Amino acid sequence: MVKRVFNFGPGPAALPLEVLKVAQEELLDYRGTGMSILEISHRSPEYEDINNQAISLMRELMGVGENYHVLFLGGGASTQFSMIPMNFLPQGKVGAYVDTGTWSAKAIKEAEKLGKVEVVASSKGDKYSYIPKDIKAPNGAAYLHITSNNTIAGTQYQDMPDTDVPLICDMSSDILSRRRDFGKFSVIYAGAQKNIGPAGCTAVIIRDEMLAKCPDSIPTMLNYKTHAKEKSLYNTPPAFAVYIVKLVLEWVKKQGGVSAIEKVNAKKKDVIGGLIDQHGDYFKGTVQQASRSWANITMRLPTEDLEKKLIADAKAAGFIGLKGHRSVGGIRVSLYNAMTLEGAEKLAAFMLDFMKKNPK
Ligand SMILES: *Cc1c(COP(=O)(O)O)cnc(C)c1O
Repeated sequence: MVKRVFNFGPGPAALPLEVLKVAQEELLDYRGTGMSILEISHRSPEYEDINNQAISLMRELMGVGENYHVLFLGGGASTQFSMIPMNFLPQGKVGAYVDTGTWSAKAIKEAEKLGKVEVVASSKGDKYSYIPKDIKAPNGAAYLHITSNNTIAGTQYQDMPDTDVPLICDMSSDILSRRRDFGKFSVIYAGAQKNIGPAGCTAVIIRDEMLAKCPDSIPTMLNYKTHAKEKSLYNTPPAFAVYIVKLVLEWVKKQGGVSAIEKVNAKKKDVIGGLIDQHGDYFKGTVQQASRSWANITMRLPTEDLEKKLIADAKAAGFIGLKGHRSVGGIRVSLYNAMTLEGAEKLAAFMLDFMKKNPK
């Protein structure tokens, strides 16, 4: 038996065991080719098939049509912070941003280097502990950029804002984890390494009419049009990462799609969120309950020493990745799609037991 821990890490994060097993089985001889998918040409029919299937599975799971292009790019979600304004923020226009955490702030910083930015709502003054309401982009804004789940702060949009301008969303840490009206967005991007695959691949889902806006003056590799036209095969794509993404998307479909995944995720967040709701004097939530993320649940314990002890004891018991981001400290429980309900329940039982043994 292979030893597997319960991995609550924030990313790169746990992958479904079934996916890892298929990858292992196919690693040395991919479907009779006598080659690993790591060694195969990205122009081969085998890779083309993987790429096409990943694209159509993404569309199918999101419930969007062929008017959406699905791209698999390198550079991480962080490169999208620059590509978005390069492609969509022309001179004389304003890019509207909502500042709900570290990643939003980074997106804003990059856009400010390239054009005019207006931060239309922010929870920064309140330690990013909530998602602002009544978000409005100014008339004629080039786009409204939001971050659906704030991986570090632990907040998440429960409903998406309504807007007349193109809506652009960084979904790195909650893509395909809850039902969303994906057709509402002009651009969605996500580093794969939290919910849909390994590091090295960033999914960009982009509506057709946005491509007409991409200026020819920007570098070829940073132009969405290049990658949309070539189905992400303009140059060598992160082929192995895309292959794993394809396997994860097949797994999501096998679970029953996003709505079935959402049901499990709702239970997981109730199990861990319940610690805060029922024992809030020990497990102190760091965000407003109405904005609490399903994907990254953040809390403080009565003392930093207790936090350190919890992290160490949990690791010894087979629960890893619970340390809060170095910028905020505390405890963070990441409950991405590949974490099982069983894992969440076992962790909750462990934490309750820890509370009893280590009173404040
Ligand atoms: C992790 C994360 C990023 C950064 O992703 P990279 O792929 O490392 O660049 C950006 N946005 C959000 C919301 C994240 O969770």
